[in-house]
Amino acid sequence: MTRTTNRESVVIELGKSSEDSADHRSSAKPAPELLVTIDGPAGTGKSTVARELAHKLGVDFLDTGAMYRAATALAIDASIPRDDEAAIVKLVESADLRFDWGADPPDLRAFAKSVMHRLRDTDVTAEVSPVSALPGVREILVHIQRRIGSEHSRLVSEGRDQGSVVFPDADVKIYLDASPRVRAQRRAAQLLREGKGDAADVDINQIEAEITERDQRDRSRSVGPLVCPKDAIRFDTSDLPQSEVVEGLLEIVVSALRAKDPTGKKQG
Ligand code: C5P
Repeated sequence: MTRTTNRESVVIELGKSSEDSADHRSSAKPAPELLVTIDGPAGTGKSTVARELAHKLGVDFLDTGAMYRAATALAIDASIPRDDEAAIVKLVESADLRFDWGADPPDLRAFAKSVMHRLRDTDVTAEVSPVSALPGVREILVHIQRRIGSEHSRLVSEGRDQGSVVFPDADVKIYLDASPRVRAQRRAAQLLREGKGDAADVDINQIEAEITERDQRDRSRSVGPLVCPKDAIRFDTSDLPQSEVVEGLLEIVVSALRAKDPTGKKQG
């Protein structure tokens, strides 16, 4: 591959394959490590751009929203009321939530079965915020996320509390934002794409109101609230197409790594 810019060369270094890692071991160099957190409210396109960024960097991608959605789907499907914390915690604990990292995107499994088909259903989206405010649920999922972080030394982790609570020592912390209106428009387009509504019944004003309410709950909950960590780089995606957001994130990651480690040792 031609290396036309410095940025590309850094990305190529980060994206080394497992065969390359064997070279590192044989020359007794430490394995490269990279942890990038991406937090922010719903509808900023976080999951999509975080996944793209992880691909470009050649690292794994952890979608923590999927885990909260899975916990919510489990509770709904077992007819447990959303405020019965003890019962939901017991269920989520026994579900042994884990990703199959061989799939792309990684396949989230509960009770050894994929739950991916349920995650974006409207009942799950409506209930996920109150369920994810339950401290017992957060405790289990944060524990699993940290375990994943310790098993995947090169990771982009996306959510609401990844830089603030789960991985406070991340190498690079990013906070993605966008205006509520733009986020509602993106969510509407997504619903139409996924066939979860038609143009006549997708109401942007209602979606915007729901997004604002969800933000409010995510920001005001007592455990793991949505905040922009002090040491995070804030990135507003309102006026940018997805491809430019990904490019912008790549720039941020590479320059943050350069600033921390100008010798580039961490990448190599
Ligand atoms: O990112 P996504 O929209 O899939 O997240 C769904 C919901 O899960 C969020 O609205 C939030 O309530 C919750 N969540 C959370 N902490 C995370 C990720 C998601 O509370 N780290």
